[in-house]
Amino acid sequence: HAGRNNVCFYSDIVHLKALGREHVAIQSRLSDAIRNGALQVYYQPVIHARSGEVMAVEALARWQDDQSGWISPELFIPMAEKVGLIQELSELVIRIALERLRSWRDAGLKQRLMINISRSQLFYPRFISQLIEWLDEKRLSPQDIILEITESVALTDYARQLKHLKHLVMAGFQLAIDDFGTGYSALSQLHEMPANLLKVDVSFAQRLHTEEGRRVMQAIVQLGRGLGLQIVVEGVENLETARFLQGLGVDYLQGFHFSEPVPAGVVDLYLRLGLGN
Ligand code: C2E
Ligand code: CA
Ligand code: CA
Ligand code: CA
Repeated sequence: HAGRNNVCFYSDIVHLKALGREHVAIQSRLSDAIRNGALQVYYQPVIHARSGEVMAVEALARWQDDQSGWISPELFIPMAEKVGLIQELSELVIRIALERLRSWRDAGLKQRLMINISRSQLFYPRFISQLIEWLDEKRLSPQDIILEITESVALTDYARQLKHLKHLVMAGFQLAIDDFGTGYSALSQLHEMPANLLKVDVSFAQRLHTEEGRRVMQAIVQLGRGLGLQIVVEGVENLETARFLQGLGVDYLQGFHFSEPVPAGVVDLYLRLGLGN
């Protein structure tokens, strides 16, 4: 199937076919999962590079299926987008996360909540007003929220998206450009984006063991800085990487070195007691 100059192991082919068949089943189960509570939210802290304090937490959808076990969001988020379930899925994630944020505010905690937004949601007419309604219900405000929008989303169909993004900023939300460096960058347009934060994709932190990788990171940090954006580097997996990025003047760090995405109860403890406890 892949053509002549390719080697492919039989087990890979069998695996791919099995996955293809399972997709159909997974779709209907995803719809059930959204309704019956099998969909959960985990949280990953974002660390202030200088102080080591938790600046915010990112909400990440998790799905534990009875039959298949944990299913990756890399699989079910695109699927939810394709079959028209993303709105419903996202609504659930946001409501669960806002409930949690309310409890943090009640405990006197100030950290912000970072929420991932899909392309289609940005164009959903009631998106902003709905979000603000839910915040009002919980006596929270847009200033409590950082919305993450992937770079490719941020930079295609540009004029229309820019309008929507500006409305979000006018309403008081902060914006982060997610997965920076992986999309179809139109760098000439980046300076017009009403974003506050640039999240450098996981893949860049993983190339810091090479001289070239370090230079690329340095260039990205300079670019972001030049545009007045704060920089978050994702995928920080060890102390060496954290130190190098601190040296470059990166503002925030996120990754397994500090914490994996964890259930609400665990992140509660991080926020109350600090990450080192
Ligand atoms: P993302 O927004 O780029 O989230 C970061 C991903 O990197 C997460 O994968 C996280 O677990 C992983 N990660 C964090 N630290 C490290 C590290 O040190 N090393 C490595 N190798 N990986 C790290 P996850 O949770 O599997 O999520 C995958 C993607 O699914 C997310 O990428 C996001 O685009 C999407 N997603 C997750 N939840 C939602 C949601 O509620 N709504 C939408 N629209 N998308 C979501
Ligand atoms: Ca994200
Ligand atoms: Ca990312
Ligand atoms: Ca990603």
